[in-house]
Amino acid sequence: MRILVTGGSGFLGSHLSEKLVGFGHDVICLDNFYTGHRNNIEHLVSKSNFELVRHDVTFPYYVEVDRIYNLACPASPIHYQANPVQTTKTSVHGAINMLGLAKRTGARILQASTSEVYGDPEIHPQTEDYWGRVNPIGIRSCYDEGKRCAETLFFDYHRQYAVDIRVARIFNTYGPRMHPKDGRVVSNFIVQALKGEDITVYGDGSQTRSFCFVDDLIEGLLAFMDVDKGFPGPINIGNPTEFTMLELAESVLKLTNSASRLVFKELPQDDPKQRKPDISLAKEKLSWEPKVQLNEGLLKTIQYFSKLDLK
Ligand code: NAD
Ligand code: UDP
Ligand code: UDP
Repeated sequence: MRILVTGGSGFLGSHLSEKLVGFGHDVICLDNFYTGHRNNIEHLVSKSNFELVRHDVTFPYYVEVDRIYNLACPASPIHYQANPVQTTKTSVHGAINMLGLAKRTGARILQASTSEVYGDPEIHPQTEDYWGRVNPIGIRSCYDEGKRCAETLFFDYHRQYAVDIRVARIFNTYGPRMHPKDGRVVSNFIVQALKGEDITVYGDGSQTRSFCFVDDLIEGLLAFMDVDKGFPGPINIGNPTEFTMLELAESVLKLTNSASRLVFKELPQDDPKQRKPDISLAKEKLSWEPKVQLNEGLLKTIQYFSKLDLK
């Protein structure tokens, strides 16, 4: 199959592209390199079934493909908040262009949505029928509302034009190829521990997240793309094992044998207090659940960061 992966040189996109190339598909990796890096897909560039395209999804793109994975969008708060107008444009105009492309070509299209559509949730764990609690005018809104609007567009193209859509709500995912300066908690803690710098815990560290190792996440996305027509989602893809940020910091310190100290910094505005996916639907519809435990995934991620030049 001919498969377009937008955001293909980013953290998740590069792992997905690698898998799809390995399966023998013709992969077009589209990216504007805002947070993605050529290093992530360097090993694929010489393959005859891989093509790298520098393009911004907010502009139309014409190509003939069978499937589209729409991952283009910065995912880390520091990056999506650096240019919030561009973040909303990427989610909204990007979705319109990729849906227009899917409509014209008849391609099946998967949207990388997010647990952020639930905002700071009152329902715990989060099920897909929960509508969320999102601030429409805060500093996270460009990402949260952009992704919510993208979901709306996906479902309207599905209802209005019968586009074959898949909306995956991805929960916090970590692993090799996260950018060391990406600003997300797992990469921050590991890099700080390896460099012997202070571990920056925001707030009192009692807020929770549920971390999914990248290999598990990619298996979930592939399974969702492959299920029969008629199941558009939305579906939660993530690991339901929940940790506080303090517990995460302790695990990272232990696994890196680091003497770094914890320092407490101000909690960012609208930072969700708790997050954990209910993955019953993914188990039922995709026969999928994550296999990699946090310590095992952290070790693989630590090994990756240990080999980098972390200046
Ligand atoms: P990432 O920042 O590493 O990758 C995003 C990629 O999109 C980068 O390569 C970036 O250069 C590219 N991009 C950004 N704006 C673009 C534009 N306008 N045109 C073309 N390319 C553009 O982030 P990631 O963790 O790989 O996330 C991938 C997708 O998954 C994102 O849509 C994100 O919202 C979603 N997601 C990720 C997580 C997670 O924990 N990693 C959780 C929920 C949702
Ligand atoms: N589009 C695209 N590639 C395509 C087909 C469409 O980028 O192969 C863009 C097109 O520029 C348009 C958007 O997708 O702005 C939405 O397309 P749609 O057909 O839904 O809308 P229309 O063209 O009727 O406004
Ligand atoms: N966080 C932290 N220290 C850091 C980076 C993040 O304590 O150096 C916290 C952050 O406040 C949030 C959690 O870790 O409560 C997850 O943050 P991340 O940016 O990774 O993802 P998101 O908030 O989008 O889930």
